[in-house]
Amino acid sequence: MRSICILGSTGSIGENTLDVIARHPDLYRVCALTANTQIEKLAVQCRQFKPDIAVVRDAVGAHQLQQLIAELKTEVLHGPQGLIAAVMHQSVDTVMAAIVGAAGLLPTLEAAKAGKRILLANKEALVMAGPIFMDAIAQSRAELLPIDSEHNAIYQCLPHSETSSHGSYRASGVEELLLTASGGPFLKRAIDTLDLVTPDEACAHPNWLMGRKISVDSATMMNKGLELIEAMWLFDMPEDKIQIVIHPQSVIHSLVRYVDGSLLAQLGEPDMRTPIAYGLGWPHRIDSGVKKLNMMTLKDLHFMVADAKRYPAILLAREAARAKGTAPAILNAANEVAVESFLQDRIKYTQIIPIVNQVLQEVVAQKATSLELVLEADQQARAKANMIIKGLTR
Ligand code: NAD
Ligand code: MG
Repeated sequence: MRSICILGSTGSIGENTLDVIARHPDLYRVCALTANTQIEKLAVQCRQFKPDIAVVRDAVGAHQLQQLIAELKTEVLHGPQGLIAAVMHQSVDTVMAAIVGAAGLLPTLEAAKAGKRILLANKEALVMAGPIFMDAIAQSRAELLPIDSEHNAIYQCLPHSETSSHGSYRASGVEELLLTASGGPFLKRAIDTLDLVTPDEACAHPNWLMGRKISVDSATMMNKGLELIEAMWLFDMPEDKIQIVIHPQSVIHSLVRYVDGSLLAQLGEPDMRTPIAYGLGWPHRIDSGVKKLNMMTLKDLHFMVADAKRYPAILLAREAARAKGTAPAILNAANEVAVESFLQDRIKYTQIIPIVNQVLQEVVAQKATSLELVLEADQQARAKANMIIKGLTR
């Protein structure tokens, strides 16, 4: 029986994880649940799964939760220290990292250092601190399983023999990785009308139901840019060996090309419970509750190159990926601030990527030799992005 901590249990990935876990009460026990501000939703989850620990953002929320679940033995904690206590709980062996954004970095890194099995959905943590995170994994020999659907697909298509572990995929004949992208809700919208896009339009993804931040990232395709950097670290591949292919049907979740001419793909319904179940069950397969993909109903599957004019975020992410060091942390932080401002109706949709670009050009990247330097770059980029936005909205 595995004992699970879910960081971000009230989010889209968190709820899907609990859905899979609830199908297998004999295999999984929920040890810790964490949320930011959705106290009532967390209380409902606590009543169903009876975790040892529940964590919320602050003391006020903790008090509120305590009152809502007074009948349970669950210990209620709060703040960043609470998140760390949750992942470090002695009975936790598996951590689902599903907090959105940079806020997930510290607890996920602690889990990596402690050698827990990490199911990684929180791509921003790896984008920010790739080398530090991967070093922690290597030193503690923690198991790292990608939950992002593309990376999970690639992981499933990679060789997993004794001779081909992380870092030696290319030696085993892997030539390149192909990340598929749906193109988001604006694949066909006239480019000159994009400045009228509202937050709700940007969050209406054609194939996936996700949190608002990643939904906006999918519309701009910064999500694919972050995923490119995520894939570089997860699979030790150079930036120019990772292609991005638009595939609007989201049936093929990504592919691996081998030197012998083979192209391996993973197909399935667009439902995150498949990669989540893969991570929970690994190395076995478990029922996820996902509908079977009916090949007979598949009509045309389309593939196209991403247009740089429609999706300038991809070029920016490639630039940060090549620069390495703290450049990806700067890219990520600027994007988080710009997306949040767009979601609050403070800037236009078409201002998001130019703001990220300006921050990336103006904040000087350093070598990412320590966590402190990464966090400093993150803060500098946030300050710069906020300054630019203040100037634009004055
Ligand atoms: P979401 O917004 O639905 O949920 C985010 C969760 O994080 C919530 O539980 C929230 O309470 C918590 N949270 C937010 N800010 C926090 C903070 N400052 N401190 C502590 N907790 C905080 O997001 P989501 O769609 O579930 O995405 C979660 C992560 O998974 C993201 O990194 C995203 O990129 C990645 N991901 C999501 C999907 C998807 O289909 N939703 C797919 C691939 C990857
Ligand atoms: Mg993805």
